[in-house]
Amino acid sequence: MATDRPLPYARQSIDEEDVARVVAALRSDWLTTGPVVDAFEEAVAARCGVAHAVAMSSGTAALHAINSVLGLGAGDEVIVPAMTFVATANAVCMVGATPRFADVDRSTLLIDPDAVETLIGPATRAVVAVDYAGQCCDYQRLQQLCDANNLTLIADACHSLGGDYGGRPVGSLARLSAFSFHPVKPITTAEGGMVTSDDRQLATALRRFRNHGIDSDARQRAERREWGYAMESLGWNYRMSELHAALGLSQLTRLDEWIDQRSALAEHYRRALATVDGVEPLALLPERRHAWHLMVVRCRDEALRQRLFQRLRDASIAAVVHYPALHLHPFYRRHHGGRDGLCPVAEGAAGTILSLPLYPAMDVDDVERVVDVVAAAALEAAA
Ligand SMILES: *Cc1c(COP(=O)(O)O)cnc(C)c1O
Repeated sequence: MATDRPLPYARQSIDEEDVARVVAALRSDWLTTGPVVDAFEEAVAARCGVAHAVAMSSGTAALHAINSVLGLGAGDEVIVPAMTFVATANAVCMVGATPRFADVDRSTLLIDPDAVETLIGPATRAVVAVDYAGQCCDYQRLQQLCDANNLTLIADACHSLGGDYGGRPVGSLARLSAFSFHPVKPITTAEGGMVTSDDRQLATALRRFRNHGIDSDARQRAERREWGYAMESLGWNYRMSELHAALGLSQLTRLDEWIDQRSALAEHYRRALATVDGVEPLALLPERRHAWHLMVVRCRDEALRQRLFQRLRDASIAAVVHYPALHLHPFYRRHHGGRDGLCPVAEGAAGTILSLPLYPAMDVDDVERVVDVVAAAALEAAA
């Protein structure tokens, strides 16, 4: 075993078919917003069991577009979990609305429906469910809360493409779902994102938002032999290129195989870690297919997390913290009432969690190598 070979915490898998498809797109007539983007959207919509999928230039663009087409703005509040990537809340701020931070469940770090319930007030308009690490939130409870209070349920599904809940695929579990195709995510387009929805009007508004608020794109005008266009609303350039879509379409064919590989590696981790004192994987919930974006473990205390991090680094193994508590970033402290003690579970987790390497190209020997380092560090801490 070559113990010095660096292990990243995540890594894309690119094969010759991916390369060939991107090169073919590069040689085609359309470099952006062409037939390959259409095909990628159709494939994602089919995979998610929804009527519409709208490609975006990133997961962040997808979230921004969602908040915008829902008409959210100043005076509106959107409930987000305190344990997520900053983009979940930044997208709320970008439209002038206010994020409210809900604490997460201790065993899964998924948004806690009870915490959501206490935050609902007259200004609340939407709730964002983040499928942290690739495991689905309690969509049933969240949907009930949203229905009872006339709120929109949004899924930040950037971790969970290919997962499901109660047999229903991720992407179909909320009114609107956002995906990211950043290289560490379940499939990649290098940079890219997507929104899925069954709502035709929202899908139309999303297409417009990603193209400056204009009612048609260049290819539609060329096909109709028309020059005229009208800008209906404010928008950005959040389009996905044909090159990126070609990579995504090719990657999507391997999604299920990759989730199976990730699941097998995660299962191996869980079995091997069961004998390690002070280091514990997150809880698994029933009725779900976990997409296994991240292999998160929780350490007994901050000192053990620090020791693990250092020993892994000494062994050329990357480990990452997903995430620092959202509401404690300087921006959210300054502008949106973030303070210590607001979401104690997320704050406690942020001090003790670590994401261990997990990606399809890893093998069981790699997992053993990581667990050996973790076990030795835990023993050292106990001595
Ligand atoms: C990656 C990620 C995003 C942002 O996606 P990008 O494609 O990097 O812009 C948003 N939310 C969560 C939970 C993510 O993990």
